[in-house]
Amino acid sequence: MTHPFLDHLTATLAGIEADGLTKRERLITSPQSGRVTIAGREVINLCANNYLGLADHPALIEAAGQAMADHGFGLASVRFICGTQDLHRALEERLARFLGMEDAILFAACFDANGGLFEPLLGPEDAVVSDSLNHASIIDGIRLSKARRLRYENRDLDGLETALTEARAGGARHILIATDGVFSMDGTLAPLPGIRALADRFGALVMVDDCHATGFLGPKGEGTPVHLGTRADILTGTLGKALGGALGGYVAGPQPVIDLLRQRARPYLFSNALPPAITAAGLAALDLVEAGHDLRARLFDNAAHWRAGLTAAGFDLIPGEHPIIPVMLGDARLSQQMAARLFEKGVHVAGFFYPVVPHGTARIRTQMSAALTRDDLDTALQAFAEAGRETGVLA
Ligand SMILES: *Cc1c(COP(=O)(O)O)cnc(C)c1O
Repeated sequence: MTHPFLDHLTATLAGIEADGLTKRERLITSPQSGRVTIAGREVINLCANNYLGLADHPALIEAAGQAMADHGFGLASVRFICGTQDLHRALEERLARFLGMEDAILFAACFDANGGLFEPLLGPEDAVVSDSLNHASIIDGIRLSKARRLRYENRDLDGLETALTEARAGGARHILIATDGVFSMDGTLAPLPGIRALADRFGALVMVDDCHATGFLGPKGEGTPVHLGTRADILTGTLGKALGGALGGYVAGPQPVIDLLRQRARPYLFSNALPPAITAAGLAALDLVEAGHDLRARLFDNAAHWRAGLTAAGFDLIPGEHPIIPVMLGDARLSQQMAARLFEKGVHVAGFFYPVVPHGTARIRTQMSAALTRDDLDTALQAFAEAGRETGVLA
């Protein structure tokens, strides 16, 4: 087919390619784990959100298989018509209890949870105050609401206070502060105790997207607010990262919030119910998380060892303790080159560059997992040191 519209798209793609910004997908032929098979080769995998190593865990696979045997494959319905199974309510209640909330509601993904959250809860009389580095799904969700929108610089409490003052001066009826618990490109945590204090002073509510924390931050993996000794009013999260890595998202919060989302959230009302394999495996993931001190200990041991090794080799890291550990390189092409070199050496990582991160802050984002062994990490450290010297990143 030819059409001027398609010529226009082809030119756009050529521009992306000319800028060295084309993203290419590698074909994995094994389960997701600490090592994966790509193009017939086993490589160490440092770029999955598989924090607790549950993505190929036998208990989840068993639970999923059992659920397919006794609850079938799919629901072929949205929840409110004829798509709610006992497993859905069991998982919602379990998530709520685990997170210390009154209730929870499942979505097909956290992208949908964030996309559907703001529009039903906030009207034009209200305001939402959002961190500048919030996940794309929060930004999109806020755009879909009619509330006044204010933004503050990443993790800047003074900026937040200014925005809250402005929202109140503008006569906002209700104010909702929205933040990621952990910023996924940097591995940094939101200053939640300070955010809570400001929210209380201004009579605002706090929404935290805890996709990169639920299951492993906090004493029992409850997430960033508990880890930092505070609380959120509304939490969103995913089953697609630490909690098994498959698919599914949720909102947890006060009963009226959840009840209204069940009536009005568009991605909930107009999209299919999660399948039994996913909901049952979600429950099995929470069993492992609640008994998961050893998995969390291994994850954070790995993160400490990996950070120390990269620092000793001379790489520039963003300081912290989170298992997201970005190696800062600056230049987009350099991040691509470094990732390619590492792949040749048997280490699978991805370069991150504009538009995923700001111009000039390209990086290789490494992520630790309980599925990685000490031997995997030491082999990967060796590869990083070599690739760093070969690309001129290290002297
Ligand atoms: C991954 C992620 C999402 C999207 O989650 P899905 O369940 O994969 O749609 C939303 N917010 C944040 C902060 C994330 O990291």
